[in-house]
Amino acid sequence: MSISLQNISKNYGSQKALDNINFSIEKGQIVGFLGPNGAGKSTTMKIINGYLNPDAGEVQVNNVSVAENPMSTKAMIGYLPEHNPLYLDMYIKEYLLFCAKVHKVSKASVKIFIDKVGLKPEISKRIKELSKGYRQRVGLAAAMLHNPEVLILDEPTTGLDPNQLVEIRNLIKEVGKDKTVLFSTHIMQEVEAICDRVIILNKGKIVADRLMDEIKGKNLEEMFRSLTN
Ligand code: ADP
Repeated sequence: MSISLQNISKNYGSQKALDNINFSIEKGQIVGFLGPNGAGKSTTMKIINGYLNPDAGEVQVNNVSVAENPMSTKAMIGYLPEHNPLYLDMYIKEYLLFCAKVHKVSKASVKIFIDKVGLKPEISKRIKELSKGYRQRVGLAAAMLHNPEVLILDEPTTGLDPNQLVEIRNLIKEVGKDKTVLFSTHIMQEVEAICDRVIILNKGKIVADRLMDEIKGKNLEEMFRSLTN
């Protein structure tokens, strides 16, 4: 399995964020991660990439324990955090070269990913001069520079205009062809358009875990509302 979570629980003080979460994702699957705000999606993603430790349970990435081998599992994961924090004063290439250095990957990969995510038209700009859609492209390129097998994308399309949204969605679909992708979103059509599977979280528990083929013809939005309301 590319990603495996067993009996994961997490509290922030007295706030229960995750309550005994279990799921596994096969290599190559694109999984939509849905849930109302506060359901625990970001917490789950931070635990998978080793940014947060769970209070209980075990996470494995490519059958390697995140708790026991955090450096090696981090190397297998590309993570785009919610709100995509970037160094705004840097030029696109300067930032990506910096990321490449951190990941110890060659400068050549920067050029490859600038092309792959379509940054070329804006390449002369500083990150602060970019639209949100282009900033997301920079975040995606940074997440993929070290060629990870697993991509964890926290709300990659939130706040984009309809054109940017389709562009980033297509990009995720394209890069997801040879990667395992877990991405959170509030947009049901997005899950229907690009995912193989959907997992719905509510109040720290999984309330649905279905292949898209199983729910074909059903209204995902209605399903979401009835499970989370
Ligand atoms: P989602 O990503 O689905 O919106 P989160 O994982 O961000 O959900 O949050 C799950 C719960 O944990 C919420 O009740 C949220 O308020 C709480 N929470 C998240 N981060 C923190 C934190 N750093 N400190 C305290 N509570 C937090």
